[in-house]
Amino acid sequence: MLAQGPERSAQLSAHGATLRSWLDSAVQAVPPASRERAAEVAQVASNALAPHAEAVRRICHRLHPVFAPTIAAATPHVEHAAKWCNQHMAALEPWQLVLLTAVATLVAARLLRGLRSAVRTLQDKGWSQLVAGFLLDLPLVRGRVAREQASLAAKVREDLRKKAAAGGAPPALRALPRSGSAPNDVKRQLKYKEAEDMRFADGDSRVSGTVYMAGAVHKQLLSEAYAMFTLTNPMHSDVFPSVRKMEGEVVAMTASILGGGPSGDPGVCGSMTSGGTESILTAVKASRDYMAAKRGITEPEMVVAVSAHAAFVKAAEYFKIRVIKLPVGADYRLSAVTVRGAIGPNTVLVVASAVGFPHGVMDHVEDIAKVTRRRGIPLHVDCCLGGFVLPFARKLGHRVPSFDFSVPGVTSISTDTHKFGMAHKGTSVVLYRSSDIRRHQFTSITDWTGGLYISPGFAGSRSGALIATAWASLVHMGEEGFMVAAETMMKSAQQFIAGVEAIDGLEVVGQPEMTVVAFKASRRGLDIYKVNDLLSQAGWHLNALQRPAALHICLTAAHSQGIVQLLLRDLKEAVQTVLQDPQGKGDGEGMAPLYGMAATVPDRRIVSQFLVAYQDALLEAM
Ligand SMILES: *Cc1c(COP(=O)(O)O)cnc(C)c1O
Repeated sequence: MLAQGPERSAQLSAHGATLRSWLDSAVQAVPPASRERAAEVAQVASNALAPHAEAVRRICHRLHPVFAPTIAAATPHVEHAAKWCNQHMAALEPWQLVLLTAVATLVAARLLRGLRSAVRTLQDKGWSQLVAGFLLDLPLVRGRVAREQASLAAKVREDLRKKAAAGGAPPALRALPRSGSAPNDVKRQLKYKEAEDMRFADGDSRVSGTVYMAGAVHKQLLSEAYAMFTLTNPMHSDVFPSVRKMEGEVVAMTASILGGGPSGDPGVCGSMTSGGTESILTAVKASRDYMAAKRGITEPEMVVAVSAHAAFVKAAEYFKIRVIKLPVGADYRLSAVTVRGAIGPNTVLVVASAVGFPHGVMDHVEDIAKVTRRRGIPLHVDCCLGGFVLPFARKLGHRVPSFDFSVPGVTSISTDTHKFGMAHKGTSVVLYRSSDIRRHQFTSITDWTGGLYISPGFAGSRSGALIATAWASLVHMGEEGFMVAAETMMKSAQQFIAGVEAIDGLEVVGQPEMTVVAFKASRRGLDIYKVNDLLSQAGWHLNALQRPAALHICLTAAHSQGIVQLLLRDLKEAVQTVLQDPQGKGDGEGMAPLYGMAATVPDRRIVSQFLVAYQDALLEAM
């Protein structure tokens, strides 16, 4: 045992006395009421712990024989080590000891942090990506990738330039014109610009999603609504009370079809945003801050399926949240079992989709909600696509499991007025179970020299005109209008599903609940991306999906049943063409080579760098 001389124990008891008197005076400084309160809390805590203390004692007692031999064997080594330490440290001054301890603690903390971050990187990326990432950093490889990127960017710019030149448009503006143009001249120039775009005669859309509304009357009404409120801004609610009230009504109308409102949970509240992505960013930020306030979580994690919309990954990047990405089941839906295994003490949000963008299928929302509710963790349901279709499809008798605020445990929902809400681009709604969570999307600043400041979301100034178009759309459609639209679109979807199943070589992915239908090759040797390139040449714009390789179309009110028939005809022809010549290179213009590359490159950074080069080119080419 360590030597302890008599003077040592005298010293210690002198220190003990000093410490005690210091503590006493500190206790005296605390107001009596607080002292009593603290004593009560301590009493409650010790009462609560008492039964467990007995259990702990029992466990220790039982474990003692297990560990006793090990402890006995280790004791001489520990004593030896202690003696060695004492001998070597005897020469050190106390201040040196203190300094050494502090430095050692800092180094250990640093090492631990490094280790944890390495483990996380490995968990998040896997070995193959780490190794590939290392290889990519070699100068030789880096130079090669940079050259490939530059050539891709040049090709994209050239393509865009050629297309612009073909339209016979005036040269691009690279600086503000010195003098202004007369209105007629501006309109003439606008006509040139407009001529480049695809046209959407009613029912004739050849594009997946994108344009959701139909009907000349509806479109004209929305344009007029926009024109009436062009100068308004809901930030100045005293100047423009009209748009403030319309925002409230749009939120209330949306809540009423998603389990809130008069016939649902009256606590449901929300606000409008500029789109699905902003609704998602807003809900993620609010949930993160809600959980920081409620549980003191400082290293937040978010649990999402691989099929959740990209906006959740964007939110995680923006708000420094670690993403736990989960696989979906054989039915392409996220399951409660998978979620349960991924939830941890730092989880601030679980995400489910109704329906998901890639395959148009709904995650197992009710089961997932049971798990999150038990753990007190927020659950966001992304209804950006489904919000204005599923409630009506269900009333029409289609198979639609519960997914909205009628499910206990769902805490927030995003849904897009600018998709199936049939309004102009630029509006969406984010809803919360209660204002307890919503308040965490607000920013209040009390000491700004610009005045007392409160803002509900990301934007400062917003367009009141867009709010008016969303309001006009919902009021013009009404429940009956949405029912009719849903019925027509669901018919198109069923027609498309049956048509795809009848094409030799294709199969539908999963069992879609609404009008987003994904399909993939059911035969080896059929490159679905080549099928897509052929469809693109024929004027169609479908979405390419990956993991598994597939395509999808989101059918909207802008697709008539006649156009679905045409698509099926072209699809069948494209599949036959690719099957007849599987090695065919196509015309080299399509996306198939890019997707082919993306599927085989293990390090996603290369793919990501290509995407960045592509985006640069898009922003710079005029
Ligand atoms: C479209 C969509 C979003 C994002 O919406 P934007 O309006 O494009 O920002 C999010 N989730 C799903 C399921 C979507 O379909």
